[in-house]
Amino acid sequence: MNTTPFTELGLPAPLLQAIEELGYERPSAIQAMAIPIALEGHDIIGLSQTGSGKTAAFVLPALAKIDPKLRKPQILILCPTRELAIQVCEDVHRLGSKMPKLQAVPVYGGAPIGRQFRALEDGAQLIVGTPGRLLDHLRRGSFDPSHVKMTILDEADRMLDMGFREEMEELLATLPDTRQTMFFSATMNRGVEGLIKRFGKNPQMLQIERKALTVESIEQRHYEVRERSKVEVLSRLLDLEDPRLAIVFCNTKKAVDECTEALLSRGYAADRLHGDVTQQMRERVLNRFREGKVEVLVATDVAARGIDIEEIDIVFNYDVPQDPEDYVHRIGRTGRAGRSGRAITFVFGRDLYRLQNIERTIRQKITRHRVPSQEEVEDRRADALYDSVRDRLEAGSFVGHETHIERLLDQGHTATDITGALFTLLREATTTKGQSIAEDNAQNPSTGGGTGNRFDRADSQPHRPDRNQERSSSYTGEMTKLFVNLGKTHGINAKDLVGMFYREGEVPDGSLGHIKLFPRHTIVEVPEECVEKTLRALGKSKLRGKPFRVHRDKQA
Ligand code: AMP
Repeated sequence: MNTTPFTELGLPAPLLQAIEELGYERPSAIQAMAIPIALEGHDIIGLSQTGSGKTAAFVLPALAKIDPKLRKPQILILCPTRELAIQVCEDVHRLGSKMPKLQAVPVYGGAPIGRQFRALEDGAQLIVGTPGRLLDHLRRGSFDPSHVKMTILDEADRMLDMGFREEMEELLATLPDTRQTMFFSATMNRGVEGLIKRFGKNPQMLQIERKALTVESIEQRHYEVRERSKVEVLSRLLDLEDPRLAIVFCNTKKAVDECTEALLSRGYAADRLHGDVTQQMRERVLNRFREGKVEVLVATDVAARGIDIEEIDIVFNYDVPQDPEDYVHRIGRTGRAGRSGRAITFVFGRDLYRLQNIERTIRQKITRHRVPSQEEVEDRRADALYDSVRDRLEAGSFVGHETHIERLLDQGHTATDITGALFTLLREATTTKGQSIAEDNAQNPSTGGGTGNRFDRADSQPHRPDRNQERSSSYTGEMTKLFVNLGKTHGINAKDLVGMFYREGEVPDGSLGHIKLFPRHTIVEVPEECVEKTLRALGKSKLRGKPFRVHRDKQA
């Protein structure tokens, strides 16, 4: 792990401010190596993959070299594709956000050339573009290369693979001889070597050494999760996996702060560790984590260094780490002392390259899993509630409330009703509401909105329907199962349902079939011929004062 702070790389203040604002805690390995050498003016060959932080490794020194008063192209970055050119330009704007006079433009084929002319005429100082379109501008005279002091070839190997050799050579040949060149490439081959030989000046080769790393005893999974859904998915997994202690790793201090706040507001015992946390506070947090008072520790790699706690059940990679080595360090914190550890990584979009890079390094697959649905989580919570109530009953630790119970019974409430109401109260007091996320639709298309394997789970549980919940129909035609999203924990009983289906659901007397009550839902059998009418009739009904959903059971 690299330990040099950003402040020691020789970068000017506006860039350090932007880095601080982005929440980057320390340079990645390639950044720590490349930035000081580039600032000294040397040519560089950086052998580095996407995801290693290579973009900032060349953008930061490039920005440091810009003369803000000169309204001419001074930095030229060549990229193989339009997508990459846009991404790199976005990074330029992010890292250059504290340079008020900075003008940077992306220039690529397929976009209207007129707008690009104007941007170039307006005094762009940094241009990111694909070779073909840049050459076009050069030939038309809209790109003046005479003030270029640095050029960067991003993914040089890919540009050659895509057949840009001639365009690249023509472009490079027109740039001033005094310019500095940085070649970034994932691989080294004859083509890249040829370019370096012809256009480089004594370049320094930078390569991150890869050690053989293994993490065999740990169960490793990944989930595809958008940035804005991360907190929700993390909460669902914490509820389902129920770890005693978990660490959540983020790549930035900002992400650590945001994630901790979100977990705290959802009621988790979470705390944070990052570079801005004082030594005294750090000790306190770690002690509370060790004692189990903090269950979820959110941290950056630097802050988590040296934590030696054995009982960590799960490591979450809230962000995919920059470096495969960091991945191994992070997840090595679980599965210690012969325990079975779990490592869960959130991945989206560009992160996939980083994940593949990690898989190559550890020579293991990190399998993709489906994001659990809200209903699976709720079922799990209902089960946990059921288990703790049963444990209490079995342990006999429920004495002292007789008078209240008797008063309720005297008022005409049945034992089932009272228990149901208490379950509901408990549920409301112990859980925060989850939220629907895009992943629910994207990943669970076949389960009809995430009903999951509800039936298998319910049937394997000890919630056997009691006699009161089963009714046989005198009707002999085809029956259809309807799903009602209220169940035992909502204080619902079979009598309520029967009454409602006959009274408001317009089901003919005596034709209702079986009713099965589950903790979170109920299945009611009605004659197929009146399903549509019943669904319409119940559209706005309430059950025990609660609105509910009813639809055909998708598991049927
Ligand atoms: P790249 O390899 O350049 O595609 O970068 C991958 C991702 O890492 C980008 O989303 C950057 O914003 C992020 N990144 C780059 N440098 C750092 C850093 N030092 N700390 C945290 N994140 C970083």
